[in-house]
Amino acid sequence: MGHTVQADEDGTVYHHHRTGDTMQTIKVVPCECSDPGCPCMGKCTLYGNTTLYRVDMIDKTGTPMCDRCADDALDSGVFTIDNN
Ligand SMILES: [Zn+2]
Ligand SMILES: [Zn+2]
Repeated sequence: MGHTVQADEDGTVYHHHRTGDTMQTIKVVPCECSDPGCPCMGKCTLYGNTTLYRVDMIDKTGTPMCDRCADDALDSGVFTIDNN
């Protein structure tokens, strides 16, 4: 049960999970939801563990969102989880 959290000087947060002999590092990014119509009112402070892509423009980078905002964004029809 190894789980440590590390933050860079620039604010990037990493979670380190140890599973047996394997160390897995997950880069933690903030949810970038900026939709005032979302339950978070565009001021989400959770982690963006899902990456969504705009459907109305070419979107190669995607937008990290937390589960709650991702649900709302997918409902709106503006975002998809498929990057193509
Ligand atoms: Zn969010
Ligand atoms: Zn939101």
